[in-house]
Amino acid sequence: MGSEINLKNIVSRKLLELQAYSTKSYDHSIKLDAMEMPNDSIVIEGSSILNALKDLELNRYPDPNFRALRKKLLIAKNLNLPKFDVIVGNGSDELIQLLCLLTANEGKGKLLTPSPTFSVYKILAQIHGLSSFEFNLESGTFHLDTSRFIEEILKVDPSLIFIANPNNPTGNRLISRDIEKVCEACKGLVILDEAYYKFSGRSYIDMLQDLNNLLIMQTMSKIGFAGIRLGMLFGNKKVIDLLNKIRLPFNVNAISQFVGLEILNSEALIDEKISSIIKERAVLIEQLSKIEGIKVYPSEANFILVDFQNYNAELIFSQLLESGVLVKSVSGQHQLLKGCLRITVGSEAENREFIRIVTRIIPKSHS
Ligand code: PMP
Repeated sequence: MGSEINLKNIVSRKLLELQAYSTKSYDHSIKLDAMEMPNDSIVIEGSSILNALKDLELNRYPDPNFRALRKKLLIAKNLNLPKFDVIVGNGSDELIQLLCLLTANEGKGKLLTPSPTFSVYKILAQIHGLSSFEFNLESGTFHLDTSRFIEEILKVDPSLIFIANPNNPTGNRLISRDIEKVCEACKGLVILDEAYYKFSGRSYIDMLQDLNNLLIMQTMSKIGFAGIRLGMLFGNKKVIDLLNKIRLPFNVNAISQFVGLEILNSEALIDEKISSIIKERAVLIEQLSKIEGIKVYPSEANFILVDFQNYNAELIFSQLLESGVLVKSVSGQHQLLKGCLRITVGSEAENREFIRIVTRIIPKSHS
């Protein structure tokens, strides 16, 4: 029988009241909500993965130190031990979690992020007991005013800064030249989250050479492999060693380690797929921009933020869903995102269908 559980006695109020990351499931035929690559971008045949599985010895635990993958990643990024290392995680989500765990410092840890940004940073910081500070991006452009941000860094003295570059959900790059100044001002760790860097054509991983407290996070999710959950964090070996110390022993399974290596062997093919998404993004922006009464933000990522100014964004979201198209409503996430939907760039056919449906819906969606 056991005792009656009174969760209030065993779980902190903070966790009981926490707003979790939304993972609602919807029925749809066109999926443009999660920045995945479309189905026609798959570059590794399921059959070749199935063949390789036969040799994977799934009766054994995976390599706890993901040596093959680690070696290949360091070579690919031109980084050398013993100064630098890489840790891989069950998606970059796990690496964000580990960074929060590392810097929580018995309730003294502080997170600072530009805002709006990827909501998981703040949620994981709260779970681990860091205080969370947000620095608003500029209204209307979502630019990061780096000199004011640096003043905020000096004031808050954060242990951890995440800058998504390009940023989710705004789609723009937040920082370039001033990375050095930010790293100098911050006494803690500065994480540049490059989940979407392939769509902007610019990574700042070369800056690791001069900046001890900078770490670069990337992921396989946005380049066609969200299903294998593989994120990577590159940087100062001293920090990576500590993260290895606190992670679960076998955090990345054998199949993901194997597919990760295959992905690194398929770079050229993946880059071709990325180029076609970049072309499609331009077409989608052009077509959306023809619709009166909406504002289409520029994008360096594989999604586009649209402000449905004169219309009711929530109504458009549900009408799209009724027609089988799933996008992401970010309208309730932040005051600067009011009225905004985020649309992932899909395949050519999906994008055309989306445009056809949205132009049919819009005249009926005045707020
Ligand atoms: N960083 C950013 C900026 C993201 O937008 C996302 C996913 N939406 C992630 C990290 C998480 O990626 P992963 O799938 O590797 O956990």
